[in-house]
Amino acid sequence: MKDRRSNVLIIMTDEQPVQTVNCYGNDWVRRDIGRIFLQIFDVALSAWTSGRPGLCIFEETCGSALAMEYNGDLCSCDHFVEARYKLGNGQRTGLAEMADSRRQHHFGQAKKDSLPQYCRNCGVQFIYNGGCPKNRFTATPSGEPGLTIFVKDIEHFSLMLTAL
Ligand code: SF4
Repeated sequence: MKDRRSNVLIIMTDEQPVQTVNCYGNDWVRRDIGRIFLQIFDVALSAWTSGRPGLCIFEETCGSALAMEYNGDLCSCDHFVEARYKLGNGQRTGLAEMADSRRQHHFGQAKKDSLPQYCRNCGVQFIYNGGCPKNRFTATPSGEPGLTIFVKDIEHFSLMLTAL
């Protein structure tokens, strides 16, 4: 069908380098924008055209993806369900109060404040913003901690974007 919207699932493995995605990215930009929706491409396009990626891991700050456990405990994010990120318990404290707490604002702001200088100097920072803090456990070439483990993939992907 001509105008049918489609969903495509790309599963990446270590053996299947990011070039595969980059290769498809070239086709997507030329033929498939608005027709086939791939999150990583759509997020990049959104950042490029509106200045906002629209997905927490790519935004400058975060903190709107809280996670509640079966017993009512509320944590800052579903990537950080740990005691030190517990904001309280929904049986005792209002959800809005916890979501709007200073601790939660600090959690979201820390995504920006902890960004290594290496990322701040990067030409595609506005698209990626260092990625999710959960994955920032390697170091920059100068030894600064807090670099995402996906930095090589991002560099490849960004090169593809800037070449288009
Ligand atoms: S910690 Fe990661 S997954 Fe959670 S809100 Fe922030 S960017 Fe999103």
